Amino acid sequence: MKTGQIHVQTENIFPIIKKFLYSDHEIFLRELVSNAVDASQKLHVLAKNGEFKGELGDLKVEVLLDKEAKTLTIRDNGIGMSAEEIDKYINQIAFSGAEEFVEKYKGKEGAEQIIGHFGLGFYSAFMVAEKVQIRTLARYEGAQAVQWESNGSPEFTLIDIDKADRGTDIILYITEESAEFLEKQRIQGILDKYCKFLPIPVFFGTKTEYIDSPEGEKDDKGNVKRVAIDVPNQVNNPSPAWTKAPVDLKQEDYDQFYRELYPMTFEQPLFHIHLNVDYPFNLTGILYFPKIKENVEVQRNKINLYSNQVFITDSVAEIVPEFLTLLHGVIDSPDIPLNVSRSYLQSDGNVKKISAHITKKVADKLAEMFKKDRADFEAKWPDLQVFVQYGMLSEEKFAEKAKDFSLFKTTDNECFTQQEYLDKVKILQTDKNNKTVFLYTNDAEEQYAFVKKAKDRGYSVLLLDGPLAPHWISKLEQTNENISFARVDADSLDKLIAKTDELPSKLSKEEEEKLKPIFEAQVNKEKFTVQFESMSEQEAPIIITQPEFIRRMMEQQKLGGGGGFYGAFPEMFNLTVNANHPTIGKLLSQEAAVQEQHTKQLVDLAMLAQGLLKGAALDAFIQRNIEHIA
Ligand code: ADP
Repeated sequence: MKTGQIHVQTENIFPIIKKFLYSDHEIFLRELVSNAVDASQKLHVLAKNGEFKGELGDLKVEVLLDKEAKTLTIRDNGIGMSAEEIDKYINQIAFSGAEEFVEKYKGKEGAEQIIGHFGLGFYSAFMVAEKVQIRTLARYEGAQAVQWESNGSPEFTLIDIDKADRGTDIILYITEESAEFLEKQRIQGILDKYCKFLPIPVFFGTKTEYIDSPEGEKDDKGNVKRVAIDVPNQVNNPSPAWTKAPVDLKQEDYDQFYRELYPMTFEQPLFHIHLNVDYPFNLTGILYFPKIKENVEVQRNKINLYSNQVFITDSVAEIVPEFLTLLHGVIDSPDIPLNVSRSYLQSDGNVKKISAHITKKVADKLAEMFKKDRADFEAKWPDLQVFVQYGMLSEEKFAEKAKDFSLFKTTDNECFTQQEYLDKVKILQTDKNNKTVFLYTNDAEEQYAFVKKAKDRGYSVLLLDGPLAPHWISKLEQTNENISFARVDADSLDKLIAKTDELPSKLSKEEEEKLKPIFEAQVNKEKFTVQFESMSEQEAPIIITQPEFIRRMMEQQKLGGGGGFYGAFPEMFNLTVNANHPTIGKLLSQEAAVQEQHTKQLVDLAMLAQGLLKGAALDAFIQRNIEHIA
């Protein structure tokens, strides 16, 4: 027997490990299972290079729970360790065995598969165990099995033992306060989270499966009986789709893998991108485009980050641009540093390159789809629009590429790129200041009358809906001096697309002054500003509009949630009287009672067209009209 002191810089390293190494204690299991997987893969590499000539057998990792003995064991049949190796790899904490191994086998096939670089992985066992034993038999012929034991102080013992099978058992004597790790459900949960796609089969306990009775027993109806049997419970799928070559996968495989990742999600993604880079950094993965709906938040943070098939985190916000966190799927890269702070990650060179690469891939994929099958792309656009707009708003590089495939949809259900649309409407919709006005509605039903009027004049109206539309509009206006956007109900069409100076008015100033108070009497003066405009006779006698500027302020306020810096912005409208409409001219010669009645009716109709006639006012309007018929 050998006793000794673990070689550490400071005596007190263990409490430090316990407290600070990982705030999440459950991670010890990921570390130990990863080590066991490593040990198995190392044996693989040795066998391939002819340095291990024995039987590999079925390489696997087992997790064994003994609630009574209060132990949790992680067992592998990998390379094992000799007494010297334990001394080197376990006792000399500063030595990272994996690192040395990779160094030695650099460039040789399979070596890059080795997980590691997790730092103090093995010692994380002391976060949950009061005593840890390593029972191990190394791969060498005639090797002597040894047992290392430590209670978490720098002292350890090392003795020779009998152990028939090659490989390592790590036995944790779980502390009272970590008793949760003696619960089957808890362990299963951790394994599901971190070990689901490890490259070597991992087993935990058994599960029940139903098979045809091996004896051929029949039930009453003469069918072969189904019987329950216990089978080893394999936790992982060792070769998940992203580790395979895209040419070897069919659409069904990608669909199947999506279900494997998100068993609780029923909706299928729109399409996917298979990432596969090995120079100048290592990156594999599959990203899926979900159908993105109004409520984007629920769909966020579904990308899982792996390092050589070990799950690291599902929060990749520091690694990919924010808009990409709307995607689903897996990114696997051993080149993303794992032991650094999150804020440092963003400035890491590799992370920057990876992030730029993914952004480019996503833009290229969309561009390719647009080019290849435009009709299909247009059909998918409603589900893509939020994603593309978000990307354009937040990433300049993406915006540059996306302007060629981001689409404008008209109220006639036609789709155009920005340039195509500009070419389409330039002649009719360019105003006297040489700005081309993109008329839009965010709700073609509600703004029906306004949309119709515009179309009657031969104008085109865009349908711009979705939560990001207001931001997107501002962005487009900022980057395109010759374009401006106006909602169809922001003003009269003559004002929205001012072709010439105002038409001559049929009302004199005095006549307007006379009519103004009559209209004002019908509305809340705080909310409505009455004004006269000389429009064409075809326009409605009165239109109620909300100036583009005011509406945008209100939208900002809504998005910002609440009053904001300047306090709540009041809702305001313009009630514009068409001075040239014959009905308005007639009001002048009517007697007061009739005049009032007609004014009221005209105002109510304009309100109705804007969906502003509600409650008591709406009811009174209906009653009045019924009486009129009677
Ligand atoms: P890292 O894995 O980052 O090198 P660890 O502290 O997890 O650090 O492990 C230290 C070393 O101990 C490993 O590199 C490996 O050489 C050795 N080791 C740990 N677990 C096993 C195991 N199950 N079988 C063989 N060697 C192991």
